[in-house]
Amino acid sequence: MDAQINPRKIIHIDMDAFFAAVEQRDFPQYRNKPLIVGGLPNSRGVVATCSYEARAFGIHSVMPSSTALRLCPHAIFVKPRFDAYRDVSEQIRAIFKEYTELVEPVSLDEAYLDVTTTDHFNHSATRIAQDIIQKIKQKTQLTASAGISYNKFLAKIASDINKPNGLFTITPKQGSQFIEQLPIGKFHGIGQATEQKMHALGIYTGKDLKALSKEQLQHHFGKTGVHYFHIAHNEDNRPVRPYRTIKSVGIEKTFTHDLSDPRVIEQSIKCLFSTAFAKLQKKELNALTVTLKVKYENFEQITRSRTGHEHLTDQGLEQEILTALIKKTAIGQRKVRLLGISFSSLEPKSTICHPQQLDLFQLS
Ligand SMILES: [Mg+2]
Repeated sequence: MDAQINPRKIIHIDMDAFFAAVEQRDFPQYRNKPLIVGGLPNSRGVVATCSYEARAFGIHSVMPSSTALRLCPHAIFVKPRFDAYRDVSEQIRAIFKEYTELVEPVSLDEAYLDVTTTDHFNHSATRIAQDIIQKIKQKTQLTASAGISYNKFLAKIASDINKPNGLFTITPKQGSQFIEQLPIGKFHGIGQATEQKMHALGIYTGKDLKALSKEQLQHHFGKTGVHYFHIAHNEDNRPVRPYRTIKSVGIEKTFTHDLSDPRVIEQSIKCLFSTAFAKLQKKELNALTVTLKVKYENFEQITRSRTGHEHLTDQGLEQEILTALIKKTAIGQRKVRLLGISFSSLEPKSTICHPQQLDLFQLS
C-alpha cells in the first residue's frame, strides 16, 4: 500500500474546550467551574463550547442552553468573545507556520499540518507535535491535543484519544488494525443517527464496515457510503490544503452615470450585497462585518461598517444592516459614482456547518 511505501506525516491539532478555556484563562472566577460559552439559557441558543467541569454533567456542544441549565443549574453561562478567540487562533497559526507552510485551518481552534518534509526533530512527527503543544501552552497558557498519523482521517481520530492535553500517534503499520477495532461511532463524520443505522445493519466496528462492498454501502448510505468504504479500507489521500487567509470578500461597481436617486442607489446596494453574499457562501466563509463603500461624484470615498455578534448565516439581516449603513452616508444628498459591499472578519464555515448549530450565535 502506498501509505506504507511513502507515508505522509500529518498532525491534527485541536485546542481543548477552546472557547471555555479562553474564558477560564481570562477570568479566574470561571476556573474549575462548569462554564458554558454560547447562547444564554433563556434564549433559543445552544452551547458552543463548555468547560470540562460542565462536561461532567453531560453537557456538550450544540446542546440547547436550556437543557444545559437543567442538567447543571449552577452552571455559568457567558457569551462568546470571538475577538479573543481569533487572537489566540492567530497565535497558534503562527506557531504552526514555524514547522510547515502546509497548514489547513479547520476552524479557529483546529488545524491539519503536513510535516512530511519538516526537518525538525529528525523528522519525528510525534516530537514535532509535542513541541507544538508545548509552544501553544507557553504562548497562550492553553492546552491542545494532537493526533499524528499518515492521513487526515486517522490524525483527526488520534487527536481525540488522549484529549485533553495529550497526543496519540497511529503509524502506517498500525493503521489498518486501528480502523478494524474502531467502534463505528468513533468514526469522524458518523453521528448518532448513522451509528444507529449501522448497528441495525450489524456494523459495530471498522472490521464490520470493511466487510460490506462499495455497492452495499452506497445502497444504504448513498454517496457517503462510498466515503465510508474508502475510510474502512484505509484510503484517505486528501491533501492538507493551506488555506490562504482571505481578509475580505466583496464586490464594487462604478456606474457609467453618477447616481442620485436614493431608491436606485439602495437597489444597487442590495444587488451588490446579494452578489457579495453569494461569493462569501461559495468560499464557505462566514462573516461578522459588513462594509459599505461609497465614492461620491467628487471622488471622495467613505466606508461604513457594521460588525455583528452573529455570523451572517443567511440574508435575513440584509435590510436592517443596509438601512443602518446607508443612514451613515450622504446618500440622498450627494451623487454617487461607485458603490461597494464587502464582508470581513471571516471564518471558515465548517465551524458552524452543522444545521443544528445555526442557533449557536443567537445570543440573547
Ligand atoms: Mg477543539
